[in-house]
Amino acid sequence: MKLSRILSNCNGISRKQANALIAAGRVTVDGATCRDAALDVIKFAKVQLDDRIIQSGETAHYLMLNKPAGYLSATTDDIHPTVLDLVPPELHPDLHIAGRLDRASTGLLILTNDGNWSRRLTEPKIKIPKQYRVTTVSPISPETARTFADGIWFEFEQLRTSPAQIEVLGPHEALVTIYEGRYHQVKRMFHAVGNRITSLHRECMGDIGLDPGLSAGQYRPLSGDEIQSVP
Ligand code: URA
Repeated sequence: MKLSRILSNCNGISRKQANALIAAGRVTVDGATCRDAALDVIKFAKVQLDDRIIQSGETAHYLMLNKPAGYLSATTDDIHPTVLDLVPPELHPDLHIAGRLDRASTGLLILTNDGNWSRRLTEPKIKIPKQYRVTTVSPISPETARTFADGIWFEFEQLRTSPAQIEVLGPHEALVTIYEGRYHQVKRMFHAVGNRITSLHRECMGDIGLDPGLSAGQYRPLSGDEIQSVP
């Protein structure tokens, strides 16, 4: 929200007065004087007028969870447990999932209340690699790598997937790297080559790898470096 709007949302401050107070250098954002009334201020920033706190600044949360199978990547559901059931309620407000996993899928799931940050992590145009370990019903055919690299036409979205890589680890096991996160993307890619996935485990998103110290259902806050690794 614009700085002038944050001030003028306060009782008794008009938009004109807000602009004048900002121009007079009486307003700080995270402790620094700001004279730009049009500055877009995030909800995590602290805004003060002299000593009066106008916006206290929410705490930003960034968590990685080792998602177990059977949990929905949703914030509420009437039937199934959701991944939020694995996180203390005091962290729930505003928490959302940055890149869902299907109910049966496991592994790295990132939860945050920072929408700008999660958009950068998941935005297909930014092309952050996401790596999955998969097992399949049928042996992985030699043409799979080429088909994935060429991209696969998704009729419903009317788009071709970005080139993806596959590293075959065994007849029925591979590491797959994709750069988007379309609905059921990896499943649909294997379907397109006449195969089917029996398990799917996300190992990393960009430089954020699933912490091997987290057993299924456990979470931890991301480190500063992990947060900063998202461009
Ligand atoms: N692709 C899928 O098909 N499922 C997931 O859970 C994640 C990526």
